[in-house]
Amino acid sequence: MSFKELLLTPPISITNIVEGKELFVKVLGVPFDATSSYRSGSRFGPNAIREAFLNIEVYSKKLGIDLEQEGLEDLGNLKFTSSVEEMLGSLAKVVREAMSDGSTVAILGGEHTLTYASYTSLPSDTTLLVFDAHLDLRDEYANLKLSHTTFLRRLVERRGAESIVHVGARAASSEEWNVMQKIGLKTVLTEDVISSDSINRLRELLTGSSSIYVSIDLDVLDPAYAPAVSNPEPAGITTHKLLELLYSLKGIKLVGFDIVELSPIYDNGTTAMVAAKLLSELLCLSLAERKSSSFK
Ligand code: MN
Ligand code: MN
Repeated sequence: MSFKELLLTPPISITNIVEGKELFVKVLGVPFDATSSYRSGSRFGPNAIREAFLNIEVYSKKLGIDLEQEGLEDLGNLKFTSSVEEMLGSLAKVVREAMSDGSTVAILGGEHTLTYASYTSLPSDTTLLVFDAHLDLRDEYANLKLSHTTFLRRLVERRGAESIVHVGARAASSEEWNVMQKIGLKTVLTEDVISSDSINRLRELLTGSSSIYVSIDLDVLDPAYAPAVSNPEPAGITTHKLLELLYSLKGIKLVGFDIVELSPIYDNGTTAMVAAKLLSELLCLSLAERKSSSFK
């Protein structure tokens, strides 16, 4: 063994090699925040989440999965660019390649725009479940047609709203609320999460979904739980409730997910820890489903 292997740690990575375990779960970062309109810095999100992930317990008591005993491949970060088109093009290629062997892909943002590329790289019968305080249904913002504020509008134009479920909305322009109604977007608003049986409501909306991609904009959480996001929005949901909603997805094939909009320069470490916890539980959820079904 060399001193390099003995005394040096490689650049931050959450790869976990376990003898006899295949690497069917892949993680990659997208350090992109070029369209950020307020608290920029989510390009530093992927490594902040990795660092936090390396410092939390990764055994899910709830799901009975121990990530220390599971193979996990960290593919690294997407090459840096300030071009929306280049980022989307590169990400789509990487996601398709990573999923070609049936792997689950976990994407660490970066801003929400990336979901446009990751979701459209999946088969069209995949349901998109978005958690976000905002609707991201603007037609245009700051002279951009495709950005973190418009990505869902562009997705709906391309794929329709039929396969999309949105949870946690509480802040949008009047035009966006109108668009939401007009396109018949299936929603569980923040007010519904707080005042009703949102778990059953979500399960109802997901009836018929056999595979799912989850996108978590961390601002769905109350800023008390996740202060370091690009666009904080008061009066949100708790981390506990978000986890409960995620656990309720058990039984649906989770093909991939992303965690976006962490802006670490505004963090005292809390938000990155929350993101790492969500990463850990979502990885366990995908592995639990993989173990209980015939899908590898
Ligand atoms: Mn968003
Ligand atoms: Mn948001």
